[in-house]
Amino acid sequence: MNGFTSWPPEVTPDQLEQLTLLATTYALSHSLLYLPPHGDIPPPPAPASAIHAPLSLFPTPVPRELFVRARRIQRAYNVLYARVAIDNKFLDEIMGAGGVADVDEFTGELWRAWKGLREEGPVQPLHLGLFRSDYLLHQPTSEAEISLKQVEFNTISSSFGALSQQVSGLHSYLQASTGYFGASPLLTPNNLPLNETVKGLVAGLAEAHNAYGVPDAQILFVVQANERNIFDQRLLEYELLLSHGIHIIRRTLPELEHSMKLSPARALLLPSGASSASPLSEIAVVYYRAGYTPTDYPTPAIYATRANLERSRAIQCPSLALQLAGGKKIQQVLTMSGVLERYLSREEGADEVRESWVAMWGLDDEDLPIPGAKPTNVIHVDDVKEPKGTREARIRADTLVLKPQREGGGNNIYRAAILPFLDTLPAPERRAWIAMQLIRPPAAVEGYLVRSGDAQTGPVKGRVVSELGIFGWTLFGRETNGQESVREAEVGFLVRTKGEGVDEGGVAAGFSVLDSVLLV
Ligand code: ADP
Ligand code: MG
Ligand code: MG
Repeated sequence: MNGFTSWPPEVTPDQLEQLTLLATTYALSHSLLYLPPHGDIPPPPAPASAIHAPLSLFPTPVPRELFVRARRIQRAYNVLYARVAIDNKFLDEIMGAGGVADVDEFTGELWRAWKGLREEGPVQPLHLGLFRSDYLLHQPTSEAEISLKQVEFNTISSSFGALSQQVSGLHSYLQASTGYFGASPLLTPNNLPLNETVKGLVAGLAEAHNAYGVPDAQILFVVQANERNIFDQRLLEYELLLSHGIHIIRRTLPELEHSMKLSPARALLLPSGASSASPLSEIAVVYYRAGYTPTDYPTPAIYATRANLERSRAIQCPSLALQLAGGKKIQQVLTMSGVLERYLSREEGADEVRESWVAMWGLDDEDLPIPGAKPTNVIHVDDVKEPKGTREARIRADTLVLKPQREGGGNNIYRAAILPFLDTLPAPERRAWIAMQLIRPPAAVEGYLVRSGDAQTGPVKGRVVSELGIFGWTLFGRETNGQESVREAEVGFLVRTKGEGVDEGGVAAGFSVLDSVLLV
């Protein structure tokens, strides 16, 4: 039994009710929580209530070999993205003037801020990345072998590390307490991998803190106002404090605009309390859980604030360079012949990394070979002058997703929406969009999804698709002598499960639920 044809196993309505009760109370007892939706009313400064995060009652079957592979190639990805982020020439060429920066305002702001800092001369050679590489299982036909294909690589604000650990704990608890009522022989402790993402991500932050070299310096969490996913962040804070003795300051970018200070030696200093008169604390590491989307920069001054933070000696997680390296355009250019190989040798895992990719190309690509592309006849009378990348996207629209340089979900264009979209996309903007082959998960399994709003009706059973995320960190830089240093680790995993037919699956938006792995 491979677990895909008969999942989840049968349970009686009584058993389902019991599992749901145990699951939601476990979630409420273990910070598997969100702040409640607050609509237009700002939430109280000190929260008084929370709801359990949306969750899956049963873990999701993942072939053991592919799970092991995903965790193994994370090490190669850690190194790859570190090297890309210190290749200024490559990032300038793809994301800078003459590239994406000219046609995508957000990328342009970030790139220009970074360029300005380089001209001044940076004082901190080290960068920290807390990464999450996301995958779907891929099985184009029912006879084909199941493989693992990458959706994207996140270099900023990779979330759910802490909650994913709690979900793995939840599924282990349900197994231990009920044995899942003997519903499946697969549901054994051995098949539920240990998940210690909190400790692992915090080890990365602590490593950077240590490299900064000032023991009582603090870590700044740059957060969004009205964030609902705060428990995912707080669990990292508690671990930093209790296992490493490192204190945290949480601030939004607008709060930092007027409160941050730079010493003459460019130490980043912040009032430790809300009042600007409170004593100043030195910041060793700036960890961004905001700053990945244009709405995090409500005024031009906020881009200057971001640059000012990076002007300091504090280690940036991520630096602007590393954020730019995580762009979808970079992901696509890496797939071009010979590019990956500039950064990663075969011994370092280049072949497995490449195997984890599906076809991608730029909408503005003219003469680059697109894998499997057929000689194209012009199919749209007005588009004789369209670049080959755009023509190919029209022809294969049914099998594609188009992506801009954005994070956080909700920005992509799928299948039937592609043709009308291409008809209205201004020609220069093609440069900022990539086309990506749709990954085809194995015939959908079913899942029980438990959302806090569904308390009356109980779990919703439905066909689902699951996305596996692997977490890793990298502390890296190019020393003044040109020497490159990279320290990295793979630290844990996450599964997000969404209803089949939902193209994008935000957990906060209620489309996806948090889930974990069952090795099969
Ligand atoms: P974001 O950075 O906004 O999260 P993603 O690249 O992860 O952007 O796309 C959002 C979602 O769209 C993914 O979580 C996945 O569900 C779906 N998706 C993205 N790329 C593909 C693909 N190639 N095949 C199938 N689904 C995809
Ligand atoms: Mg994503
Ligand atoms: Mg992303």
